[in-house]
Amino acid sequence: MIRQPIICVMGHVDHGKTTLLDKIRNTTITAKEAGGITQHIGASEVPLDAIKKICGSNMLSSDLKIPGLLFIDTPGHEAFTNLRRRGDSVADLAILVVDIMQGFQPQTVEAIEILKEYKTPFIIAANKVDLISGWRKSNSDSIKVALKQQQKMTLDILETKIFELIGRLSEYGFSSDIYSNVQNFQKELAIVPISAKTGEGLAELLMLAVGLSQKFLEMKLNIEIDGPGRGSIIEKKELKGMGTTIDVILYNGSLKLNDQIAFANLDGTIGVTKVKALLKPKPLHEIVESASKFYNVDYVSAASGIKISAIGLEDAMPGSPVIQVTDKDYEKEIKSELNDVFKTDPVGVVLKADSIGSLEAISKLLSSFGAKISKKGIGGITKRDIIDAFSMNATDPIYSAVLAFNVPMEDDAGAAVSLSSTKIIQSNIIYKLVDDYKAYVESVRRNKLVEVEKRLVLPAEIEVLSNSCFRASHPAIFGVEVLIGTIKPGIQMVNENGEFVGKLKGIQNEGTPLEKVRKGETAAVSMDEPTFGRQVKEGQKLYSRVSEYDAKVLMGEFADLINEEEKKLLEKILSITRK
Ligand code: GDP
Repeated sequence: MIRQPIICVMGHVDHGKTTLLDKIRNTTITAKEAGGITQHIGASEVPLDAIKKICGSNMLSSDLKIPGLLFIDTPGHEAFTNLRRRGDSVADLAILVVDIMQGFQPQTVEAIEILKEYKTPFIIAANKVDLISGWRKSNSDSIKVALKQQQKMTLDILETKIFELIGRLSEYGFSSDIYSNVQNFQKELAIVPISAKTGEGLAELLMLAVGLSQKFLEMKLNIEIDGPGRGSIIEKKELKGMGTTIDVILYNGSLKLNDQIAFANLDGTIGVTKVKALLKPKPLHEIVESASKFYNVDYVSAASGIKISAIGLEDAMPGSPVIQVTDKDYEKEIKSELNDVFKTDPVGVVLKADSIGSLEAISKLLSSFGAKISKKGIGGITKRDIIDAFSMNATDPIYSAVLAFNVPMEDDAGAAVSLSSTKIIQSNIIYKLVDDYKAYVESVRRNKLVEVEKRLVLPAEIEVLSNSCFRASHPAIFGVEVLIGTIKPGIQMVNENGEFVGKLKGIQNEGTPLEKVRKGETAAVSMDEPTFGRQVKEGQKLYSRVSEYDAKVLMGEFADLINEEEKKLLEKILSITRK
């Protein structure tokens, strides 16, 4: 059996995700005679017949095997990341909605970063084409038909806007084109101009979703319809007379009444219970007449959205897997799922988030640039979190940070923040949290560089200038030019043979003391030890004496402090001073 692909709609706020989902539902409700639409809990199913009706049968190939498309009703990355399956998303495909007039916005970038990280195929719906100046409404669901009715000026604007999207997508490593130009859908992302308001473009969008699923996801969509049920908790809800229920997207196998199911609790323990009721939503017109919005079913198979009523769901963790218990392996499976999400490093930042899905997505994005996490949790920032992060200061200040996604600071934590130097980064946009942390790491590193640079002796080669001796000895004062590197007061200088010549006591330029002199600059230096004309001569080259310890630092952790030329000089200095 091939199940319906599960599709998430993502994008920036107000770019039209809800309108698009509504339009898909409404359009398919009108295509009722062709099978209409089936409401699930948390999802809407558009059967293939309805899609064929909207697209016109000539647009779809005839040997399609998928039964339809299952759209997750809640748009956004929360739904996407909470629909979890072994560190992956259950969503097979995503539609990224971008307001064509506004282009990329923060949550567009966020969605792209997440989709890229999860390697989920997606289509770009370039929405609100009806707002383009001069747009003539076409009364068609097809963008191809609609575009034929537009004037050149309107088409030109559309083209420019699409070109901008292509440019932005390429910044994130994606090549893309308007859907009609795409040759290889595995290599190029398709951009479909649509209006979620008028419905123009819906036909092509659905057609592409069906085509991509059939072509590239077929293997993934193969299920054993009677195999053990597997799903993901998308929400937990209290229902009058029923207690706590869980809304589950079932992506594999099937579930029956009285089946045993296992899931993770908020405290990490595993809950096991028996399915007391399986509930589906009633069609809208029936809700008005009856007291309940749900009706009971005895059996449900993937893919579907279902409400489960059972004893002991109070502590179930949204985002947790739900698996039908058929053997002992369920414990291992859920444990390994949780271990993956809550896996931490011995040292690293503290990460708090609002759900297991966002915790996982942020962990992935952080580790993709090598960041480490020593503690993870769901919920607000506590005093304990601040203390734990503060204690990381001893290891490395970059770890002394609390990253909090979409959660508040608890009351007791405020005082701890003002007392400690712990960095607190809060955001409700995932990629912004990650970017802000990157910037913090960079600033810590830069501060450290400045500190280290002050302490270190850097490689330098200087030449004694001719006719520049102001005083021959006690101290000798003469002019030099820095040929390579940097000199600072206090550093020791050696000659070509590595012999000690003297310490740079002071460095001045026209009477002003200097902290450092760089390549290409000249200055007057004073030295107590040498006598000009004997240990130091005109045209002679002198070198900074870099200790073995400083050299190790400069070649290792702080290699950024010196360039290639200085690195070569450092090797030369080491070789002459080691003699
Ligand atoms: P969401 O936050 O992404 O779910 O965005 P909504 O679906 O709530 O849409 C935000 C606003 O944009 C609403 O006022 C919609 O009516 C409007 N809107 C959505 N799609 C279109 C469209 O295709 N054309 C026009 N003109 N307006 C749209």
